[in-house]
This record gives sequence, structure tokens and C-alpha cells, in this order.
Amino acid sequence: TADEAGTEIRRLDDDTVARIAAGEVVERPASAVKELVENALDAGASRLSVAVSEGGTESIRVSDDGRGMTEADVRAAVREHTTSKIGDVTDLDSGVSTLGFRGEALHTIGSVSRLRIETKARGTEGAGTELVSEGGEVRSVEPTGCPEGTAVTVEDLFFNTPARRKFLKATATEFAHVNRVVTRYALANPDVAVSLTHDGREVFSTTGQGDLQAAVLSVYGREVASAMIPVESEGEELPAGPLESVSGLVSHPETNRSSREYLATYVNGRAVTSPAIREGIMGAYEGQLGDRYPFVVLFLSVPGDAVDVNVHPRKREVRFDDDDAVRRSVDSAVEAALLDHGLLRSTAPRG
Ligand code: ADP
Ligand code: MG
Repeated sequence: TADEAGTEIRRLDDDTVARIAAGEVVERPASAVKELVENALDAGASRLSVAVSEGGTESIRVSDDGRGMTEADVRAAVREHTTSKIGDVTDLDSGVSTLGFRGEALHTIGSVSRLRIETKARGTEGAGTELVSEGGEVRSVEPTGCPEGTAVTVEDLFFNTPARRKFLKATATEFAHVNRVVTRYALANPDVAVSLTHDGREVFSTTGQGDLQAAVLSVYGREVASAMIPVESEGEELPAGPLESVSGLVSHPETNRSSREYLATYVNGRAVTSPAIREGIMGAYEGQLGDRYPFVVLFLSVPGDAVDVNVHPRKREVRFDDDDAVRRSVDSAVEAALLDHGLLRSTAPRG
């Protein structure tokens, strides 16, 4: 029906706007896990654990020993567009070093779930705070006994958006997405003890005291870890292009899988996928893998202004200005590592 102004076009109410926005950030349990893990890392956690049940569709709990929040902090944190990480657009322009900065994750996750945050700011006396909300409505904020750090529990994701709930896949599929997200962050942060539990069973845990090799051992097991060789190319060693360095681990050609899932690639510490990076990796193996993929944990560093961090929250795929140069550099770095270990058929080992 038309309103007084004679138009049927009207502003959506805030609740509807929030739920639509939630779809942009939270597509499935794994997207909520990603946001919560990023928050824990941004809070300087040295230990973080992720426990999900039913692939995360029933519940997700991410707890950390990071800096925690005061009561005022946690009340603010669940509101719209609230962040402690950037002040304004000039901060955005000067480059963002935290994983989060949009200030929308907690708000949007809260708007489509039953949310509980238990938190206590580091170095504060007395009790912590427990905030409970349902569909974005704060139900209670009370003192609670809890350790320093933060535990966020998300239950019944999409309980109030049945259309979205219906799109969730089987538990195994949703858990596979969760596992991939947590694995990526565990590998990129060997100095943080990361654990993942599904329906009460531990899937993996890293010690937080090791290097990348140790993290690979914890996550993928001994067979894979023992097949990994180091990649380390920087500066002049790389073909001309935007890459400053390429480092990490790649597997012997015989240790491979049929899925791309084990290509963990990062640009400036952010987990990304990129056709150019993938093609560079596959090119280095010179067709030895057929249609299979190696295990890869590869960190690319590029100057801050050569990538846009302000990508869409759901987009993991990056494109570079010069995809070709990136492909060549990755190919060259991985090939040098494989050659060093005598793992390419076409060429004798160097040196
Ligand atoms: P963003 O990460 O983009 O700032 P979020 O909605 O994810 O936005 O979080 C809002 C704010 O809540 C953060 O800026 C931070 O101050 C606080 N916060 C969220 N999670 C944690 C956590 N695990 N530990 C400490 N503070 C947190
Ligand atoms: Mg965040």
C-alpha cells in the first residue's frame, strides 16, 4: 500500500536490513568461524580453540586468550559498524594491518543467531562479562566468572532466516568448510596454539610453539609433513614483478591429492585463492601431477599498495594488476625449490 507521500517505495526496517547484510558476511557456519577466528587473532591470542557441532549448524564456539573486552566494549562490539581497529577512511588508505576492520561481523552474526559472548579484559580485576543476544536483540549483560580473553558461542545459525537455513548443506560438507578455514589460519600462525573439535572429537591441534613445519605435522600428519620441502625466494631471485618474496612449503610430487583443498596460499598474511598463484604452482611441477594437486603452504609478500585489502568479505579470490608476473614468480620460486631437491625430471639437481 502506498504511504502518505504517494509512493510504494519505502525504507526497509533496520531488522530486515541487518538480516540482508548478514547474508553478505555470513553465508554458512564456516564464514562465522572465519570472522570469529580473525577476531581472536586480532586480539593477540596465543591460544584459540574452535569447537563446532553438526558442522557448525548447531553451535560454534571460538575461545581465545586474547586481550578481551570490558563490559562497555562488549556492549559496543555487537552494535552496527563498531570497530576498535580503524578510526576513519584515512586509516583505510594507510593500510590495514588487522584481519578485521569493517566492524560488522559480530553485529551480523548476532542478527542471525543466538549469540553468547563471555569476555574479560586482560589485566582487569574481578568478574568478566557475559552478553546474550537473540536475533540481534540483546537479552542480558551480566557479570560472570571467566578467564581473561573471549569466548563467543553462536547457536542455531540462521534460525530466523529459514530461507538461508535451508541452503545449508550436509553436516559433512559444512564441517569440511569449517575445517579448511581453521586449517588455513593454523598454518599461517604457527606461534598460536590452534585446536579444532567437531562433535566433541579433536580434529587437530597445533602446539603454538613450532614453526610452519611443525604446524603442518599437527594439521596434516607425519606422511605429509615429511614430504614437504622449503620454498624461499626473494628480491632479485624472483622474476621482475610485484612479488617481494615467496616462502613456505610444498610437497614432493608423489605426495598429492585429487582436490585443490590443500593449496593453502596467502598474500600478505591473508588466506586467498588466485588462479595466477595456482597456475604458477602447477607450472612448476611441469605436468608431473596430471590432474592432481600438491600440498602447499605458500606465503606471498607484495607491497601494500599492490593489493586491495578492502575486498568483499566473502571473496577469497584475488586478482593482481599483473597476474602474469605473479604466475611467473610463483612458478620460479617453487621450481627452484623442487630443483634444489632433485624433484624435477627434466633437469638435473642444481649445484
Ligand atoms: P572488526 O573485527 O571489523 O573490528 P567485529 O564485529 O568482528 O568487527 O568486532 C567488533 C569489535 O569487537 C572489534 O573491533 C574488537 O574491538 C571487538 N572484539 C571482537 N572479537 C573480539 C575478541 N575475540 N577479543 C577482543 N575483542 C574482540
Ligand atoms: Mg572482526
